[in-house]
Amino acid sequence: MSSATVSTTVSASVSASEWRSLASRIFAGEALGASEYFSMLHSVSWENLAEVARELRQRGKGNVITYSPKVFLPLTNLCRDRCGYCTFRRDPGQPGAHWMEPEEVLDVARKGEKLGCREALLSLGDRPEAEFPEARAWLATHGYARTLDYVAAISELLLAETSLLPHANPGLMSRSDLERLRESNASLGLMLESTSPALFALGGAHDDAIDKRPERRLQTIRQAGELKIPFTTGILVGIGESAADIVDSLLTIRGIHAQYGHIQEVIIQNFVPKPEIPMRDVPPPAPEYFARIVALARIIFGPGFGPGFSSGLGPQMNIQAPPNLSPAHLEMLLDSGLNDWGGISPLTVDFINPEKPWPQVETLRALAASKGLELRERLPVYPEYATQPEFFSPRVWQAMQSR
Ligand code: SF4
Repeated sequence: MSSATVSTTVSASVSASEWRSLASRIFAGEALGASEYFSMLHSVSWENLAEVARELRQRGKGNVITYSPKVFLPLTNLCRDRCGYCTFRRDPGQPGAHWMEPEEVLDVARKGEKLGCREALLSLGDRPEAEFPEARAWLATHGYARTLDYVAAISELLLAETSLLPHANPGLMSRSDLERLRESNASLGLMLESTSPALFALGGAHDDAIDKRPERRLQTIRQAGELKIPFTTGILVGIGESAADIVDSLLTIRGIHAQYGHIQEVIIQNFVPKPEIPMRDVPPPAPEYFARIVALARIIFGPGFGPGFSSGLGPQMNIQAPPNLSPAHLEMLLDSGLNDWGGISPLTVDFINPEKPWPQVETLRALAASKGLELRERLPVYPEYATQPEFFSPRVWQAMQSR
């Protein structure tokens, strides 16, 4: 599709001619203003946004849709934060409170290897030792002062003892934490979630989650850029943010990537209410609204935006939405321009959303094929980074050559 053939059925707030003009500028690679993106999200139909998003995906990614076969290793579910949507975290002594011992980690990783997994996702609660003496005691017994020390040691173990590539998602990281984890991780991750200040109001999703302060998370994401670490981030949709907050969050991520060129993937994740969470009565984002945000993300990160892409990485961002959180709307999400389904495990559940099973890979493959697309496996690192040794420690680079 060219900009000349963009559909013209738009809502009253953005006229057909205005939409044609916007689409032409998008296809020309122009970075639009926040108010223009907001107008699109607010006023342009999903069909029109998705049509443009699919064309941008085709230009940037061709007909390839990817996923990462992984094992999910929740090193601990103790956490000092209390996000209003979380069923993962525990206090010490609560039923299900858990640390994974190194032997348990290796056992799961080796089972995953046999099933074809290539990624070891280390996902866990944030700094439990800052609040709980029990956490400090467990770490001390194992020879560590901080949870992030244990994450680094387990990453080293996985890199040395298995064929899996570690990808840690351990919450806030300091510059020195990032430097150390870079030695053994192929990539690292930290969801921005949102730049919205409203989430910290009394009763908000993050009113008791100091580590979710956007300025602190943005500092980690920037420092990862300074250190040339392939990085995964994204937004969480439906936790109390406004549409303007969504645009601001995406543009903030884009601005950092334009500066450092290290963000390999933007995850668009939908909030899912559950009976046991404080936000149990908050409705989830409507599927079409969520799909519009996926399409808008593709448009915002589409080919050719802005300066700062002299790194040779190319400007085509990977856009992901977790398929297990939208099992009834996979086709709509694929039609909205995503090009990746994230980590999918043949072995371990999604410990953050254990009630949401992974889709069958063959289901995703058939869906892709029905659209003329091809589903392929990937490493935790995307192909456009995996050919550039400056993004990896020598040991990780060497390990990647045999994966
Ligand atoms: S979402 Fe993460 S940071 Fe928030 S309470 Fe759950 S485990 Fe902790």
